[in-house]
Amino acid sequence: MQACHFDTPQDIFPVERDPTLYYASGDCVIRVQQTLFKIHRFQLTNNSPVFDALFSLPVGEISLVEGSSDELPIVLDGDTASDFSSLLKFIYAPVISTQIRAISASELPHVVAVARLAHKYDMEPWQTWAFLVFASHYRTPAVSKQLSSSDIATIYKVCDRPQGLTLRNEMADLWLRRIESDPALLSAALDAAESESDERFLTRLYALHLARTDTLSTLGSPTPFPTEGIPAVHLPRMLTGYWSLSTSYAQLRASPPHFPPYLAYCSIGEHEKCLRTWKSSWEEALTSAECEHPSVCAMDARLERVKRALADGVQRWTCYDAFIGNGEPVQKIVDDFKLQNHFFPVTVEAG
Ligand SMILES: [Zn+2]
Repeated sequence: MQACHFDTPQDIFPVERDPTLYYASGDCVIRVQQTLFKIHRFQLTNNSPVFDALFSLPVGEISLVEGSSDELPIVLDGDTASDFSSLLKFIYAPVISTQIRAISASELPHVVAVARLAHKYDMEPWQTWAFLVFASHYRTPAVSKQLSSSDIATIYKVCDRPQGLTLRNEMADLWLRRIESDPALLSAALDAAESESDERFLTRLYALHLARTDTLSTLGSPTPFPTEGIPAVHLPRMLTGYWSLSTSYAQLRASPPHFPPYLAYCSIGEHEKCLRTWKSSWEEALTSAECEHPSVCAMDARLERVKRALADGVQRWTCYDAFIGNGEPVQKIVDDFKLQNHFFPVTVEAG
C-alpha cells in the first residue's frame, strides 16, 4: 500500500490509499478519514444531485482543482472510510452480484452503510436498493438478533419516505425491545424519535420508561421519577401522559360501561341479578388485569386482558352474552384509551 503524509498537525495517522478502490484510471481523488479513494466521478454524480453539485464546484487550473491528486483530494466530512468503501464496492460491482437475491445476510452491515450514505447524498436508486435488500433479510430472527443497535438506528433514521414507514415502525419496535433489556439505549432513541417528530415511537418510549419507574416503586419506598439522561423536552409530555392515563383509568374503574337490559333474554325484574353479576365480573376482570399489568402505561396490555377476562373468564348467561359477547363495549374503551392521545393530546385552538 502506498502512503503519503500531510504536514497538517491534526493528521496524526498517515493518509493511505485504499488497497482496492484506488483506480489508476479514476478521475477524482476523495479522502474519507485517513483513506484515499480514486474513482470515476460519473459513478457518483450519475445518481446523486449532492455529489453532482459537490463535483461541479471547483474551477481553475486543473492541477489546483480539488480531487485532482492525493495532495488535493475532495474531503468528505462526517463519513467513515469503511462506509464509503462499502458504497463504492457495490457501485463498482458487476450488476449480477448486486441483484437483491445475490446479497447474503452477512453483507447487511455493508448494506446499512449504503443506506446511510445514499440517504445523506440523495442517491435515490441506491436508497431503494438498500431498503429492498435489508427488507429481504432482517425479519429472519437470527439476522435481526445480529443487527447492531447502530444499524437499527441508521435504518430507522433513513426511512423518511412514505414507502419506508412500515420498515421504520418495525425498526422502532426492534429498538424498543433492545431498550427493554438495556435502558442505556433510551436516550439515543428519544433523540431520533424527536428529530423525526415520530409521536408513535415517542409514546412507546415514554410508556416503557414510565412503566419501568412504576415497577421500581413500591408503596413503602417510592422511587423519585428518574429524569437522568432524559432531555427536558420529554419531561412535561411524560408527566402529562402519566397523569392523563391515571385519571382516565380511575374514572373508568368507578363507572363501568352501562349494561342495558336485553328484554328478549330477561325481564326488568330479573335484570337486577344480571347487573350485579356484571358489576362483579367487571371488578374481577379489572383487578386481575391490574395485577398482571401494574403500570397505567401498560394500558394497552391491561385493557386487552380485561377484554379477554370478560369474554372468557366468567360464566356466561344470555343477557350478558348479548351485551359483551362480541367484545364491542370493551373494544370501544380500548380504542378510547389510545396511549398516544394521552402523551400528545389533540389541542383545539381557541377562537
Ligand atoms: Zn339481564
